[in-house]
Amino acid sequence: MNDLAIIGAGTMGTGIAQLTATRGCTVRLIDVNKDVAEIALASIRKRLDRSVEKGRISEAQREAIMGRIQIQKAIEDLGDVDLAIEAVVENMDIKHKVFTALERATSDSAVLASNTSSLSISKIADAVRDPSRVIGMHFFNPAPIMPLVEIVAGDKSDSAAVDKAYEATKAWGKTPVRVKDTPGFIVNRVARGFYLESLRLLDEGVSGVDEIDCIMRAFGGFKMGPFELMDLIGIDVNYAVTTSVFEQMGKPARLAPHEIQRKLVEAGHIGRKAGRGFYLYDAPVRVASFPVDRKNFDLSPLLRDAMRNFCTRAGVIDAGTTEQYVLSRVLAAIMNEAGRAYGDQIATSDDIDTAMIRGTNYPKGPLAWADEIGHRNVRGLLKSLNEQTTDRRYDPAPLYANAL
Ligand code: NAD
Repeated sequence: MNDLAIIGAGTMGTGIAQLTATRGCTVRLIDVNKDVAEIALASIRKRLDRSVEKGRISEAQREAIMGRIQIQKAIEDLGDVDLAIEAVVENMDIKHKVFTALERATSDSAVLASNTSSLSISKIADAVRDPSRVIGMHFFNPAPIMPLVEIVAGDKSDSAAVDKAYEATKAWGKTPVRVKDTPGFIVNRVARGFYLESLRLLDEGVSGVDEIDCIMRAFGGFKMGPFELMDLIGIDVNYAVTTSVFEQMGKPARLAPHEIQRKLVEAGHIGRKAGRGFYLYDAPVRVASFPVDRKNFDLSPLLRDAMRNFCTRAGVIDAGTTEQYVLSRVLAAIMNEAGRAYGDQIATSDDIDTAMIRGTNYPKGPLAWADEIGHRNVRGLLKSLNEQTTDRRYDPAPLYANAL
């Protein structure tokens, strides 16, 4: 698939255009706002200039890449393409209009893909006469750098269209995974545990923002802790994804958006881009933006044992009770969501693990990690955590509940 159309020249469209043109594709870039498309071209040139300065590409290569990207005014003028990737705003009505126009403008053999993060591919496909052509290609930001692409099959997607997209992303040097059309796909669903469990620990006064981040880095091997990562992503974006996954999954307690996040969004303290989120960014040294209201926590003997078993198997032995408690709760939440996603057959276990490593930089795939720790130990921890709550949010996924 070498002839591409990219609709929407914002953050994602720009990144996907740069990636695919660098990999030899011709790209027709369309935005409803012509100035935005021009700005996209200028920003791609700027990034390529930096690659030239660093000696990664030659000036001739930069010119060849730029020469492969053309701005086009309207979808109606597209002509034939092999693949159209839609990256317009996250709004179903607007996406429907774009797909209706794309179906009219392209030949029947063109694959029509959406880069949506949270909308259903099957529902997007309602806008066209032939939904078999419509699939999801979920790139991560920044698209030229992030390796993962979730290839999403809608209810009526043709498997040949899915395969073509899978092979194309591989040829572009990316790591594709296959996933069914389900809320949050793999990454945005399984990652919820990382953020939500950390927010609960903060709210319960177990540890502060910087301590939880530090524990997850030092003992969990994560490159970034949950709070610094939310600040980087944007707390508003993270909160919107949580809310969307929660609502589409039928509002289970384990995925409920957290008050702390909602309040930060309302106050405009949405992370690095606002200079303030969980941390303050205008101080010479980064500091947490609010102190933790620390409270003592009691662990039942059962929970203490389960936590110790879990941590020993995770190789975290020389750590205090607070460190073990934070780490084991956050890891258990991630592993449980991955186990549920696996049980729901949204993807293979390998693809779930690959997605979490390549899409979010996790040190290990959560399912392989749970295998290492032992499903009985994961279940033991989840069950004893469940006994401390009234909403059963730690109910073990069948993968662990049925472990011998
Ligand atoms: P953005 O707001 O940066 O860009 C969207 C662009 O679409 C804008 O330039 C806008 O002018 C244009 N547009 C709106 N209506 C249009 C139309 N009818 N025809 C052509 N262009 C139109 O948004 P973004 O962050 O690039 O997100 C785009 C899509 O990618 C969304 O579906 C989003 O959920 C998804 N996504 C975003 C990220 C991310 O981190 N930003 C990551 C993965 C997926």
